[in-house]
This record gives sequence, C-alpha cells and structure tokens, in this order.
Amino acid sequence: MTNKHQKFKMDQTLQRLGISRDNQGGSCGTQFFASGASIGSHSPVDGELIANLTKVSEGDYDKILHQARKASAEFRLLPAPKRGEIIRQLGLKLRQYKDDLGKLVSYEVGKSLQEGWGEVQEMIDICDFAVGLSRQLHGYTMHSERVGHRMYEQYHPLGIVGIISAFNFPVAVWSWNAALALVCGNVTIWKPSEKAPLCALACQNIMAEVLKENQLSEGVCNLVIGGAEIGEKIVNQPEIPLVSFTGSTAVGRQVASKVAARFGRSILELGGNNAIIITENADLDMAIIGAVFGAVGTAGQRCTSTRRLIIHHSIYAQVKEKLVEAYRQLKIGNPLEHQNHMGPLIDVQAVKQYEDAIAQCKNQGGHFIVEGGVLVGEEYKSKCYVKPCIAEVENSYPIVQHETFAPILYLIKYKDMEEAIALQNNVPQGLSSAIMTQNLREAELFLSSAGSDCGIANVNIGTSGAEIGGAFGGEKETGGGRESGSDAWKYYMRRQTTTINYTKDLPLAQGIKFDI
Ligand code: NAD
Repeated sequence: MTNKHQKFKMDQTLQRLGISRDNQGGSCGTQFFASGASIGSHSPVDGELIANLTKVSEGDYDKILHQARKASAEFRLLPAPKRGEIIRQLGLKLRQYKDDLGKLVSYEVGKSLQEGWGEVQEMIDICDFAVGLSRQLHGYTMHSERVGHRMYEQYHPLGIVGIISAFNFPVAVWSWNAALALVCGNVTIWKPSEKAPLCALACQNIMAEVLKENQLSEGVCNLVIGGAEIGEKIVNQPEIPLVSFTGSTAVGRQVASKVAARFGRSILELGGNNAIIITENADLDMAIIGAVFGAVGTAGQRCTSTRRLIIHHSIYAQVKEKLVEAYRQLKIGNPLEHQNHMGPLIDVQAVKQYEDAIAQCKNQGGHFIVEGGVLVGEEYKSKCYVKPCIAEVENSYPIVQHETFAPILYLIKYKDMEEAIALQNNVPQGLSSAIMTQNLREAELFLSSAGSDCGIANVNIGTSGAEIGGAFGGEKETGGGRESGSDAWKYYMRRQTTTINYTKDLPLAQGIKFDI
C-alpha cells in the first residue's frame, strides 16, 4: 500500500469513528468541551500527525466531575439487567466498528492489525460477559443465630469509578473496566494515556451513541484527556471511591499510596517480567511459537510479554538454534500490512529505553545471540522501529530484574524443576508465567503452592494473550489487582450485610441481655 493510499483509507476510518483533524479532549457522553493546551497525536507507524486535540483544563475537569456526580445519582437506580442492556448495545456497536477501531489502534500505537482487531474483539467479549453478569450480581444469604431473623449480603454501586490507562492496550483496558463498572451501577471518568488519545476519543464516541439512543444522562461515561496532572486529580479525588490504574510500577506505587491515604480503593495493574519455563519434555515447536509471539507481539510492549525463557540445560543449545532461525524470519515494518510480524515501538523515548537496556545488559555480562539495533530507511522514517533481540544472561543481572518495555528476550539455563521455579519467581514482578511440558508432574508442580507465584500461570500456552473469562492481574510489584472475568466485579461494588428481624422481640447477638 502506498503512503498516499494508506492516508486516504485512514482518513475514512477516522471520519467513521467521528474524529476530525482538531478534537476536544474532554467529554461527558456527546457533550464535548476542553480548554487546555493543544496536543497532537503522531503515529509511530510513519511519524505523521494523525490529529490534534485540546486537553482538559482543571476547570473542564471540575465540570466533568459535576456531570458524573449528577449522572451517578440517577444511574445507580436503574435495575442491573437494564444496565446490562446498555452494555449489550455497546457490544453490538463495537462489532459494527471493529474494523475501523482495530485499524486506528494499529495506526496510533503501532501494534499489528491482527492484534488491533484482537483488542476490539476483547472489548466485545467483555461486553457479552458483563451482560450476563448484570443478572448475577449475587450475594450470599446466611442463617441468623437469632430466631425470626434473616441475614444476607447485597452489593451496591460505588458511585464514580476513575479509570487511568496505559498506552499499550488503548481500548481494551477501558472496556474491561467500563463494562463491569457500568453493569455494577457506577459511572466512569476515564483518563487514557496521552500517547493514544484518539483511540479513547473513538471509544467515547461509540459509547456516546449508545447513551444518546437510550436517553441516558450525558455524565454516565466521561473522558478526560491530559497527562499526569489530570491523572492526579482523579487519584486525589475523595469523591472517586475506586481508581483502576493500569500502567508502570513506578507510577502505580504513587497512585496506590495516594488513594490509600484517603481510604479509597485501587485496582493496580502494573508491570510484569514474565517467563516461560521450557522443560526437556516440552513440545519444542509449540514452545518456540509461544516464546516468539510472546516476545515480539506488540513489539514486546505487552504487560504479559515474554521477557525471560528458562530452559533446561539438555535442550538449551537446540532451543537457541531454533530461536535464532525463527528470529531470522521475522518481518518488521508497517503493522497495518499483514506480512509484517512486528511494528514500531510507541515513540522515540521507548527506543532510547530499548537501546539503554541493551547497553546495560552488555555491561552486566549479557551475550547477544541475536543483535538488536534501530532500523533506518524510508519505511522506518518514524525512527521507532527496532530489531527484536535475544541475550544469554543470568537471572540476577539488574537489567533482567527490570521490565524493559521492548522486544528483548533473555535466555537463562536451569538444571532441575525446583531451580526453574525459583528462577521464574525470583523477580520483583508477578504477572504472567508459563511452562512448556508434556510431563504431568512438572506441570502440576509448577501450578502447586510451591510453584509459580504469579497471578497467571499457564501450561503449554505462552505468557501473553489472556481470555476475558478469568480474573486478570498479578502479584508483588504488579500490584495485586484483578480485572475482567470471574468475580473481579466485586471490586466495583460496595458490600453490605443486612439483618432483618421479623419478630416482636429484640434479641441481641451473642445472647447479650439488656433489659430496661
Ligand atoms: P505509565 O505508568 O507511564 O502511564 C500510565 C497512565 O498513568 C497514563 O495514562 C499516564 O498519563 C498516567 N499517569 C502518569 N503519571 C501519573 C500520575 N502521577 N498520577 C496519575 N496518573 C499518572 O505507563 P505506560 O508507559 O503508558 O504503560 C506501560 C506500563 O503499563 C508497563 O509497565 C506495563 O507493564 C503496564 N501495563 C500493565 C498492565 C496490566 O494489566 N498489568 C496492562 C497494560 C500495561
């Protein structure tokens, strides 16, 4: 596809998603307003300016908060299955916009078009899940110790849920949170990454259509585009009882302490340092595909990207050879073109971090068997394209202990399963982990309480690419949050225990006597 042709097609995509050359970066439903500074969104694919946006100012933020407050008072009264109907309609719209939204994700953040569409599919899946959930917000009932008393638990909406998201899943993370928050009766204020504001605007436009068609209050879903200054307003806002934060551990650490200081709740989805253990009983063809997709998918910019391979010493040389061969076949280029496996990093700052990590790895003793480097030439004019690389390292190197958001894969050798598990666990992060084996004992040990310490532990599947049905999140410096499936919805509601006395007496619990 020529540049001119691609630009024409992207213009049409933007138009269908309601994005013009100049946009307002703050909105309640269909009402747009923003009076802050202007920012441009540039594509890492070709370096072109996609569109300009006006960020929200502090005053705009206050107006949006006011609208959210008003909307919350009404929306929480809507029966949960009716809220589910809103999300059902959102899922239908997303099916309609899947092609365009997937293309915008690919163009604005540089992930492959397949992964862009996959991200929108994940939004559709969570909508379906949330629709069913809207009729299953169950609490327990329990037997009272007192005669003629009934006890039960019920769940109520929290109010306003703040969503702060990272650049690398610019649409899915919003939907994971918004679909659950809304069926639970909350309204939302979303601050997306300033590196992917147009994806957020497109989602807001789609949601606004649904709100309008259902004559719902404008303030049910709100968008605030801005940087850390707006994120901090959400974090410090006592009226926002839950802040769902997805991003780096460094920022998450600050968010966690600020929200906790005001007794708010946070869901923290932070950095990972994910490993696959490849045992001598692995199906090697499967292991190589899982490892390569995990390491180079989204150019190594997934929280679940495979960063470390822990390989049994008896097959180490063979795995190394197969990896080198697989990397030789990788095609790097425009992610909208289907033959390319890997697109660019998000921006030149990310390229700098990649180069620094390679230099540090070499200084610390790492030996590169596939060399990295920045790609140059007309196709790579955005200066964001890099070569995926592989280094042999020790797990204890400081750089290996750190999450570098780039396609750098570390190889580590092990002798027995206990050592493999210790290596896998011996990093500060605890998001995703995997073992490739056809041996039941190895797999079960890995999954046992003496096994992986991560929030996600897979057998014969790589570390990246989770389904929405399970609760998603990780331990240690990954933050401990859970989003998406299973019972993650409970984070978005407040729990109330109720005891009803239907007698004429007032017996006290624990048999305490109090007569007047
Ligand atoms: P980041 O931490 O730089 O930014 C994340 C968000 O926080 C952005 O919206 C940013 O504007 C906002 N922000 C920055 N400073 C803030 C502050 N002081 N107060 C409030 N908000 C603030 O992360 P990023 O570079 O966009 O994303 C990459 C990181 O996100 C990686 O570490 C990755 O592992 C992590 N991530 C984790 C998950 C997960 O589910 N565990 C998913 C996606 C990404």
